[in-house]
Amino acid sequence: MNVITPIKILGVPVHPYTMNGAVEKIVERVSQKQKTLVVTANAEIIMMGQSDTEYMEILNKAALVLPDGAGTVWAGRKLGYEVPERVAGYDLFLNLMAEAAQKNFNVFFFGAAPGVAEEAKQKCETLYPGISIVGCRNGYFKDADNHSIVEEINNSGADLLFVALGAPKQEKWLAKYEDTLKPSLLMGIGGSFDVVAGKMERAPKWMQDASLEWLFRLYKQPSRFRRMLVLPKFVIKVLRFKSYKAS
Ligand code: UDP
Repeated sequence: MNVITPIKILGVPVHPYTMNGAVEKIVERVSQKQKTLVVTANAEIIMMGQSDTEYMEILNKAALVLPDGAGTVWAGRKLGYEVPERVAGYDLFLNLMAEAAQKNFNVFFFGAAPGVAEEAKQKCETLYPGISIVGCRNGYFKDADNHSIVEEINNSGADLLFVALGAPKQEKWLAKYEDTLKPSLLMGIGGSFDVVAGKMERAPKWMQDASLEWLFRLYKQPSRFRRMLVLPKFVIKVLRFKSYKAS
């Protein structure tokens, strides 16, 4: 099977898989019931790791960190590594749903506003005939509910757990319960249930291809502006690191 050595981008070990390679690797690990925490790391996530040591540790311990976003691919290439393509969290999620339907993996949806995961479930049942989505739980809960959420997931018999709480909350929740959770795949997927359920639009293909997905998200959700201020900082940090390495 394909083995890929991670590259380091600002301290984060990113595995430069292609989309197909990532899907193949995850399916292989799930088939062998290997616990697999997957993070699709965009520039924002890598920057969160710079100022949050707990999150940086999680990124370093995750089984698979994949290059999501034009920024991560650009940074990897700028630092001299071969990064074949972007592995966007949303696309990976859909590809894994297709695999789950074929391979009879059970799936659990955790996260998003009340009712959204159920709507995403219905949509996926149409898109992926035969898919077995064995449970849904919204992402608005108190600390006191954590135990019952883990139990609900474990009792469902899920093999794949998709968690949509946004970064870094979803990865922190998954890392905290990684050892107790029974599903093999543990993956954070941000706003993906909202997109599948039709609550949020994804950037048109031409904008994705032109690496402008961030601009589309900013246009649709201007409140993201503050969060996006880290992007130029990310570029500067990568360029500084590159010139430091070269000197
Ligand atoms: N969300 C949630 N619980 C929370 C905070 C957020 O379920 O306590 C959900 C929110 O409803 C949305 C998703 O998490 O569906 C976050 O989407 P966003 O696009 O902000 O995530 P990103 O991809 O940027 O990390």
